[in-house]
Amino acid sequence: LARELNIIEIPYKIEIENQPWDHSFPIIRDSAKCIKCMRCVQVCDKIQTMGVWDIINTGKRTSVSTVDMQNIEDMDCALCGQCITHCPTGALRERNDTVKVMDAIMDPDQIVIAQIAPAVRAAWGEGFGLSTEQATVGKMVSAARQIGFDYIFDTDFSADLTIMEEGHELLERLSHEKDAKMPMFTSCCPGWVRFMRSQFPDYVDNLSTAKSPQQMFGAIAKTYYADILGVTPDKITCVSIMPCTAKKYECAVPQVNDSGADRDVDVSLTTREFIRMLRAAQVNIDTLEEDAFDEPLGIGTGAGVIFGATGGVMEAALRSAYYFVTGKNPGADDFSIVRGEDGIREVTVDIAGTPVHAAVVSGLGNARNLMERVSRGEVSYDFVEVMACPGGCAGGGGQPIHDGLELA
Ligand code: SF4
Repeated sequence: LARELNIIEIPYKIEIENQPWDHSFPIIRDSAKCIKCMRCVQVCDKIQTMGVWDIINTGKRTSVSTVDMQNIEDMDCALCGQCITHCPTGALRERNDTVKVMDAIMDPDQIVIAQIAPAVRAAWGEGFGLSTEQATVGKMVSAARQIGFDYIFDTDFSADLTIMEEGHELLERLSHEKDAKMPMFTSCCPGWVRFMRSQFPDYVDNLSTAKSPQQMFGAIAKTYYADILGVTPDKITCVSIMPCTAKKYECAVPQVNDSGADRDVDVSLTTREFIRMLRAAQVNIDTLEEDAFDEPLGIGTGAGVIFGATGGVMEAALRSAYYFVTGKNPGADDFSIVRGEDGIREVTVDIAGTPVHAAVVSGLGNARNLMERVSRGEVSYDFVEVMACPGGCAGGGGQPIHDGLELA
């Protein structure tokens, strides 16, 4: 109905026509709304030192009017989207991909599958002023179904796959420590991977070879699940709903697309876009009933859920590695020491007699500090988790704006 009434399309067209730059870029700036408050610069400085404002100004912060988008792919913006969440006027925002999703939903030949990331379940209700008790996972699934998704799955499923891969890879690297590239860095955060590739390219081979949960899910959806449905991958539109703006970039990276379809994940929406779609489709939040993820890709363990917070990937990987080595589950809190709010957290944990030196980092400014110390040989680790956003994906650049009002 929302689509038929053009509720989504009209503002989208206006927005696109107003943009002065490459519309394919995941972060959009509307110069007409910018009041030059420089909050985006301040938050970017804290996080990494080079970001969207530099892109706007072609690398020179002295000018606020020059726009040159010629080499945008070569720029150093990590696409973490923190500038968006700190912009008070909505001048910065993510690329609007909701129309692509509505087009797919309205296409009778397409089966539209949604995968919803763990950090979204904690935040979607903020857009409607719901308390955490009211904004349940079941209601979120029910709301997504009312938009028109055919199947709704949980990215926890593929977060578990990522952890299995990463846990095994860590053990493999530890057992060949002399030849292996150490430390092993997590690879599930595309903001971090993009930052690493541009700022510390010598360490790219240290990244885990495991794809992110988003991309693992897309590959499973277009192969295993397509077989279950008895359709070819081109009949499936796979949509991810993420707390993240960098995921819009990641789903287009050729190296992490290998199901044989054009894309493993066709569209990545932020939590804010999901909320916008619920509003546009006039979903009545007050009357939502509890619903469940579809099977078989709707199940996940607690390991997948803790991916959403900094330290969660590390804890889940260490727990899995412990299980692979000993055949026993560790105690519930045996590795919880890796979680915490510190920007850089260093721990040594024991896996069946082998000490593993680990670091957990959130925020790219902290990541830069740690990488510089690693490069100078001042510190040495076996395993390092980095999440680009402060606090991890729960504080992602695609999440509702802090005060709960959506200005972006
Ligand atoms: Fe995206 Fe999470 Fe990385 Fe932020 S921390 S860029 S939300 S994956």
